[in-house]
Amino acid sequence: MITNAPGGTQSLISIVVPCYNEEEVISVTIDRLLSVSSGFENCRTEIICVDDGSQDRTLQILEGLAEKHDAVRVLSFARNFGHQIAVTAGIDAAVGDAVVLIDADLQDPPEVIPEMIAKWREGFDVVYGTRSEREGESAFKLSTARAFYRVLNGLSEVPIPLDTGDFRLMSRPVVDTLKSMPERDRFVRGMVSWVGFEQTAIEYRRAKRHAGVSKYPLRKMIMFAADGIISFSTVPLRLAITLGVLFAFFAVLGIFYALFMRIFTDNFVEGWTALMIAVLLIGGVQLVCLGILGEYTGKIYREVKRRPLYIVQKRIGFEPHVTAPRP
Ligand code: UDP
Ligand code: MG
Repeated sequence: MITNAPGGTQSLISIVVPCYNEEEVISVTIDRLLSVSSGFENCRTEIICVDDGSQDRTLQILEGLAEKHDAVRVLSFARNFGHQIAVTAGIDAAVGDAVVLIDADLQDPPEVIPEMIAKWREGFDVVYGTRSEREGESAFKLSTARAFYRVLNGLSEVPIPLDTGDFRLMSRPVVDTLKSMPERDRFVRGMVSWVGFEQTAIEYRRAKRHAGVSKYPLRKMIMFAADGIISFSTVPLRLAITLGVLFAFFAVLGIFYALFMRIFTDNFVEGWTALMIAVLLIGGVQLVCLGILGEYTGKIYREVKRRPLYIVQKRIGFEPHVTAPRP
């Protein structure tokens, strides 16, 4: 008998694992998750692996695992849609009373999940993992990530916890709220903060990747950071206005100065240096502001197209009735 109440006789925990080219680690990860989940008290578990259009053998390995273990279910995308979309698809497909998001590379230790469940049973709706330490990451990644979380928090209208990735547990009400949010650009950790409810943190040490390489090269990291900031803040737009006003102010001062010199003195400004500086500076500022505007307009364009967020090619191990469409 499954009840929806946390602490009820038996609850269902859905663990969502986004996987992109993770052939080297995925079976170890699923084994660890299965063995940890066998120790959950009064809980059944489903493990939803979302294959994000992997080009390696990830999908075949997942299919094998789904055949062997009842708890393992697989969603396979028609192409690579990105980490945040993969997580979204997993959340959409999950039927558990609580949903746990975890990376496929064992950087988030599955052993922390029982602590998260305990907090959930105490009544928290979101239990997120905060990285107290990160092993095996380059100094560059550590410092850029640190800066990113601080800038994001400074700009965002909702506080987003520092140094916190997607490793978290969410209760059913939070999951249902997330599912009702239709935006195309999914910055899941920000969306979860926006939702509210009772949230708490658990500290953990972020291990280094068990095997394989990071699927977040610099380019993807920058896009991810820009998405996060633009989806959660309109401060850049306001910054564009501030810059515009500031430079317009200096331009007016310059005009008065030039006129004064021209009319009342013989010593008027001759050089084209000043002219060039002004033209280039203002041109540059205008381009930056246009770019910022363009970013937001692009987002609006993507939203109004209302394309599906992702395309599922294969579903393995799901009950047939669980094809919950997005609103
Ligand atoms: N991932 C994904 N799609 C992508 C990139 C990454 O599903 O396009 C998954 C990846 O398999 C992993 C998680 O997202 O489970 C985090 O990626 P990764 O470990 O490469 O990022 P890092 O920990 O280096 O930031
Ligand atoms: Mg990783």
